[in-house]
Amino acid sequence: MTDKDVLMQIRDLSVTYNSRLGPVSAVDKVSFDIFKGEILGLVGESGCGKSTMGKALMRMIEPPGHITGGQIIFDGEDIMTYDQKQMRDFRGRKVSMIFQDPMTSLNPVQRVDEHVIEAIQVHEPKTKKEDALERAGSLIRKLGIQKRRMNSYPHQLSGGMRQRVMVGLGLVLNADLIVADEATTSLDVIVEAKLADQLRDIQEEFGVSLLVITHNIALVAELSDRVAVMYAGSIAEIADVEPLFDAPLHPYTKGLLQSIPNIKLEDEEELYKMAGEPPNLTHPPSGCRYHPRCPYAMPICEKIEPPLDEVASGRLVKCWLYFDHPEKEEPTIKVAS
Ligand code: SF4
Repeated sequence: MTDKDVLMQIRDLSVTYNSRLGPVSAVDKVSFDIFKGEILGLVGESGCGKSTMGKALMRMIEPPGHITGGQIIFDGEDIMTYDQKQMRDFRGRKVSMIFQDPMTSLNPVQRVDEHVIEAIQVHEPKTKKEDALERAGSLIRKLGIQKRRMNSYPHQLSGGMRQRVMVGLGLVLNADLIVADEATTSLDVIVEAKLADQLRDIQEEFGVSLLVITHNIALVAELSDRVAVMYAGSIAEIADVEPLFDAPLHPYTKGLLQSIPNIKLEDEEELYKMAGEPPNLTHPPSGCRYHPRCPYAMPICEKIEPPLDEVASGRLVKCWLYFDHPEKEEPTIKVAS
């Protein structure tokens, strides 16, 4: 671990969905930290559990899913012990969330100014309407939303503007962490790039932490300070953005980065395709969940789950290639610190 200040500690967090075919282990004993003032990218294929993870951090998992274990420690308190009232205060005031489609979060019959007033008054009932608007005014302008847009309804705004309103609603309450779940996915590339720039500016100006959940590897490379790679409900690797992209360690991360389309690819060259399919999480593979697809798999991989542990400063990987074990027959790869 590094000596940065930790904002949120996630420890052994598990989420299971009940299905007709049995329990689906969508998030499996996941542990990681989110530091104060950082942008952490959480990437992985569809269905790897990254969105479930984002919702779990706010205890927003709905039936048939439920959190089956673990701790979420924020400001020294485990929010898993919070009652409904404490959770309502936590959501919004401490952590806010932006979804792919902001229309699911914005009330279609409320104007932007009414959303702002409501967001503030829910947490601070004594704040007057005009004071709430005054407080939100400069913030909304910093987000590139003109004053006249405060009187608009969500359907009168562009997709990018709706997302910026959502970011503003989080910041107006001084949230410490914004979880952005595929927040740029529905935007065209130019608007996406603009929103990404604004998220970076906001992070720098307000010192807020951002957890950016996406399947867009290029966005993560552009925006994040650190990256966590998720596979089949587990974290495979966590590292600062440059070392992760320059020299990925986990075989899944290597495959993921190799699978990115490259315009320099010659006509006769084929785009790399990872072997196999993501596993069925009603019956996840034993040991390392990646072993049926892994080109480096060893006998131990099928039998024993590897730990997610530090192999160099700030660099964690969940793979037997980098750790010793009495049952391991192959040599361990050493990573330079
Ligand atoms: Fe591959 Fe084994 Fe590492 Fe899993 S633990 S990623 S199967 S080498």
